[in-house]
Amino acid sequence: MLKYKIVPLLRGSVNLTRRLEVVDISGVTIDEPAPKTRRTIFTGKTVPIFKGDGEINVLCGSCKAVLCQGLTNNKVDNIVIKCPVCQGFNEVTI
Ligand SMILES: [Zn+2]
Repeated sequence: MLKYKIVPLLRGSVNLTRRLEVVDISGVTIDEPAPKTRRTIFTGKTVPIFKGDGEINVLCGSCKAVLCQGLTNNKVDNIVIKCPVCQGFNEVTI
């Protein structure tokens, strides 16, 4: 005879899915960098240019297209991303 009741662990606060706190970062729209400034410019044909499993999204500062999805928060210093949607240049620092 059972001494206790088995309760299914489905209801309540138990959440087995790991939830990342997604952070949206907007790029700063800049003029096209002059040649020979040794800046790296990333671009692509479609958005997002980059897709990863991190928690940071980078949005175009001009048209709000998602340029990078799921970046991890490794420091990204001063990169320039050319938006495939509006052709704007975005300066991004994470
Ligand atoms: Zn754009």
